[in-house]
Amino acid sequence: MKIAIIGAGIGGLTLALALRARGIEATLYEQAAELSEIGAAVALSANATRELQRLGLIDQLERTGVEPTELIYRDGLSGDRLAAHAVRKGGAYRDRFGAPYLGIHRADLQTTLGRAVGAEHIHLAHRLERIETVGERVALHFVGRDPVEADIVVGADGVRSITRQWVGGQPLRYSGTSAFRGIVPVERLNALPDPQAIQFWIGQDAHLLHYAIGSDGGHVNFFAVVEGPTAWSGSGGTVPIEPGEAVAAFADWHPAVRQMVAAGDVERRWGLFVAPPLRHWHRGPVVLIGDAVHAMLPHHGQGANTTIEDAITLATMLDGLTSSNRDARFAAYQKERALRTRLIQRSSWDANRALHTDASLPDATRHRAMHHFPERYGWIHKFDASAQLSGASGVVAMRH
Ligand SMILES: Cc1cc2nc3c(=O)[nH]c(=O)nc-3n(C[C@H](O)[C@H](O)[C@H](O)COP(=O)(O)OP(=O)(O)OC[C@H]3O[C@@H](n4cnc5c(N)ncnc54)[C@H](O)[C@@H]3O)c2cc1C
Repeated sequence: MKIAIIGAGIGGLTLALALRARGIEATLYEQAAELSEIGAAVALSANATRELQRLGLIDQLERTGVEPTELIYRDGLSGDRLAAHAVRKGGAYRDRFGAPYLGIHRADLQTTLGRAVGAEHIHLAHRLERIETVGERVALHFVGRDPVEADIVVGADGVRSITRQWVGGQPLRYSGTSAFRGIVPVERLNALPDPQAIQFWIGQDAHLLHYAIGSDGGHVNFFAVVEGPTAWSGSGGTVPIEPGEAVAAFADWHPAVRQMVAAGDVERRWGLFVAPPLRHWHRGPVVLIGDAVHAMLPHHGQGANTTIEDAITLATMLDGLTSSNRDARFAAYQKERALRTRLIQRSSWDANRALHTDASLPDATRHRAMHHFPERYGWIHKFDASAQLSGASGVVAMRH
């Protein structure tokens, strides 16, 4: 069976590696002319790093990424520590979850995954524009290229997915929140306490998250979320902003926050969108993973991590797949993944509410809750996609 993966992002590349570990080769088609997205970062949690460890990539990722010292919640105005939890300190996170938490440049992650897959398996500058049914197979039409036929197509084409449309997905839903992001060298942040920690600064209708990235933790990646605009104009995911607009949104905040946003030289605003739940994650030979099927708010930092879980589960379901068990295998994959990703999607809305102070919750209650976040959300990090499949539900799924 010829397996084509659309999109050589985090999900597509991980899937190709998880398939290879089972002796199955797949071909990737990526619209970009090169693989690395410069100027972005990602935080990998144990539910993903334990799978990347099993794929033999953890040493390389640990060399290029950095583990935060602590998870700290601060008042956005005063800078007071509201709650703090050890991460690297005392090996607390690894001891609890059996795998590390890593802040990493997205380009480093993609380079590690892409090198492991091998350039000969990735067709760059292939933008899918249309899928056509040809008997039991499909033809993939790329802009300015000859069509390619495949038996199985995995839509790993991200939040603005073409394959999602083909499968029957509703348009993305704008969350009513947007974000400014940037990467700043630590030496430009002399007002910042604990630069090697992952920190949430919480305030009125807004919050700022940051964590260190790079092998020496030499840069800080920040993501500053604000309520509004109420409606999103334009069809893209970002819009240009006026000079100083991002800084103005945090004008009365703690100097560390103002300094970071100013140093980020932010030029665009990111709309935060979610994918409404899909009734079916597959249609015929096409099946979806990652943001294409469950794009979520980033407040648990789980978009990439759950996408890696999807890739592991789908690779298992594709192993031994035939034309007669295909639909049952795809349905089993969806069954394994839909509830978990839906719960995290929903919980990300709750996290946004918890991080934005407003009249709905007394401050003391909000701060108390932050002391319990690691226990409350431990289920997200504990999850082991491979072990789940070797448990009872996985065995039932694989009988089909
Ligand atoms: C600012 C920001 C910060 C984030 N931080 C985190 C974080 O800390 N932790 C976390 O877990 N998640 C985070 N996420 C979410 C995470 O980036 C995504 O959930 C994750 O990348 C999804 O993986 P994917 O493989 O589905 O999509 P992507 O990684 O986006 O890959 C999709 C690929 O498909 C390609 N493609 C798209 N359309 C086509 C086409 N028509 N033809 C061919 N190729 C195509 C794209 O070029 C891209 O390479 C963040 C997201 C944003 C926006």
